[in-house]
Amino acid sequence: FQNNNVVAEGKLDFEHGTLKGKSEDLANHSLLNKLLRRTLVDSPHNVEVLQRDPTSPLFSVKSFEELHLKNELLRGIYAMGFNRPSKIQENALPMMLADPPQNLIAQSQSGTGKTAAFVLAMLSRVDANKKYPQCICLSPTFELALQTGKVVEEMGKFCAGIEVIYALRGNRPGKGSRLEAQIVIGTPGTVLDWCFKLRLITVENISVFVLDEADVMINVQGHSDHSVRVKRSMPKSCQMLLFSATFEDSVWAFAERIVPDPNIIKLKKEELTLKNIQQFYDQCENKEQKYSALCNLYGVITIAQAIVFCQTRKIASWLSQKLSDDGHQVALLSGELPVYDRADMIQRFREGREKVLVTTNVCARGIDVEQVSIVVNFDLPVNVDGSVDFETYLHRIGRTGRFGKKGIAVSLIENFFVYMLKEIEDHFNTKITKLNSMDMDEMG
Ligand code: ADP
Repeated sequence: FQNNNVVAEGKLDFEHGTLKGKSEDLANHSLLNKLLRRTLVDSPHNVEVLQRDPTSPLFSVKSFEELHLKNELLRGIYAMGFNRPSKIQENALPMMLADPPQNLIAQSQSGTGKTAAFVLAMLSRVDANKKYPQCICLSPTFELALQTGKVVEEMGKFCAGIEVIYALRGNRPGKGSRLEAQIVIGTPGTVLDWCFKLRLITVENISVFVLDEADVMINVQGHSDHSVRVKRSMPKSCQMLLFSATFEDSVWAFAERIVPDPNIIKLKKEELTLKNIQQFYDQCENKEQKYSALCNLYGVITIAQAIVFCQTRKIASWLSQKLSDDGHQVALLSGELPVYDRADMIQRFREGREKVLVTTNVCARGIDVEQVSIVVNFDLPVNVDGSVDFETYLHRIGRTGRFGKKGIAVSLIENFFVYMLKEIEDHFNTKITKLNSMDMDEMG
């Protein structure tokens, strides 16, 4: 597998400047997921399939052999440790590999095998003997594009003569130069430039067009328009594939602009529940008292692993500093850390090398809470208007029903905010009991 076109990360001018606020959070969340995900995420739900032509038979496969892939591609798949298709791959792969090609819109939470599926489709469709771009994959950010590229390189490592090139700002082949790579992965604006301004890609030759992370894509300014313009220039015969982790109406509207006559595959996410969680609270006068309450809990929480949530970065850094000044071992997962460092820290925590993690809401995504036995809300999550943020409360402490492992959540509440507990109890039809030392003994 030739990789001459892969550019060194350091040389590139990151497309960070355009990402702010929500879009940055979404993109970082997605990247964290990719950096941390080692295994498939399962869902107890069944895949929903909507066929463009409901009369045609619905194929699904239980093994990769049934797909009649090129031998070197099959080797690549097995070398990655994949034994059988994931739930969405069972249905998506036969559609993606069908002849004549079919268009597809697929939605399932991250970690369910979407990337592996479209990488397989691209690798199986390209002709290694033809030295020009044949597949385009649009990603919302520089880093996400590189992650997808890594999967192509890994899965295609036995496919001689197939190359990837990254259409990312800063990687600029000279105008009119000939690209030999068959697979182009990039952000929409740069891909658009490569197609039209620089004329590096002959759009008529493209047979597979993939748009990944549609939900992140539509939140980055300019990406939707650029994506639509790239899509419009593709030949009629080109296969269009679109993927998204979530599917609000806005994503749906965008997907329909990108993919004509689609088959649709959806996989519902497993719901979070508070059923297996014992919820406690401790009422405090002020921040300092909350700190003492947390210290009192420390002996108990460090037996297992705990995450302590704060409302702001400022409080999180104050708290972790104070804890470590007082001799407690603690790690601060801060939004100021670059995503790669965050992923390292979460990995250390997963491996049990850190016992207590202090963090804010944004950063905690990507941690599977299943393994955390105690969650402490140093502050309750609130919206900008000061009302309780129920969704975040559920995300911080809820678990998927299936794992069923018991968990403990302790909320430290200043007097003024005690009314919020009642609101949470009513909203979730649940009970939050006052913490006393006997409970603490039981926890231990
Ligand atoms: P998504 O794109 O939906 O986030 P990925 O394709 O990245 O999901 O897959 C999530 C993880 O599962 C990755 O580590 C990937 O290597 C692995 N994976 C994907 N498909 C399979 C499979 N059929 N069998 C085993 N592992 C798989």
